[in-house]
Amino acid sequence: MKSMKNNLGIYKALVIYTYLLVIIAILLYKFPGLIQYNVKHMENNKALSHENYISGGYLSDTTKFSIDDMYFPVAVDGNIDEKLYYYDTYGGERTYGGERTHEGCDIMTKNNVRGELPIVSVCDGIVEKIGWLELGGYRLGIRDKSGVYYYYAHLYRYEDGITEGMTVYAGQVIGYIGDTGYSKVEGTTGNFDVHLHFGIYLTDSKGTEYTVNPYFMLKKLEKSVINYSFKNQ
Ligand SMILES: [Zn+2]
Repeated sequence: MKSMKNNLGIYKALVIYTYLLVIIAILLYKFPGLIQYNVKHMENNKALSHENYISGGYLSDTTKFSIDDMYFPVAVDGNIDEKLYYYDTYGGERTYGGERTHEGCDIMTKNNVRGELPIVSVCDGIVEKIGWLELGGYRLGIRDKSGVYYYYAHLYRYEDGITEGMTVYAGQVIGYIGDTGYSKVEGTTGNFDVHLHFGIYLTDSKGTEYTVNPYFMLKKLEKSVINYSFKNQ
């Protein structure tokens, strides 16, 4: 008697399970968007996990970085906390030049003095872009050997001898922190506080460029900040 009851239970469960499978099959047949939705949802989750990638030492599925070979992009004399501050503002609203989102992280200076601190390359790489941009002011784009493009904007000036196409090394001074940009007129300063806008651009397998949030990499790189002091001449 007892075993019959158990068998009945299994039978009932099987019937319910089969019904559920049939219902799911009908739903998917009728609404194929459900599958697409799930795929999309997974992609969104993947996008969110870029933060984990970067804090875990990965910029993407395949691109790895090691802070052993890299430096924080702003050199400081003394303690970093006394000179700089920054928050996770990636994806925030920006309105200059039309509505857009913030594709980077702004490293602010406490003294707000243009030219005060050197900007260094975070990695070994090649200077791909140099010169004035309406949004970025005096900007630099450096690509590392794995294809990651690092974007430095609003520089006060470039370090002497930095030219397009040249190789630079991690920790090499490439310019000085500033407040240039937000103008078609080259050399315009003062439209915002002195800071470095730091961006990271990757390219997917289809050749499409996309950005990731640099905040988490920066947090890691704080351990590798270069201590710099201007020589008194
Ligand atoms: Zn910015």
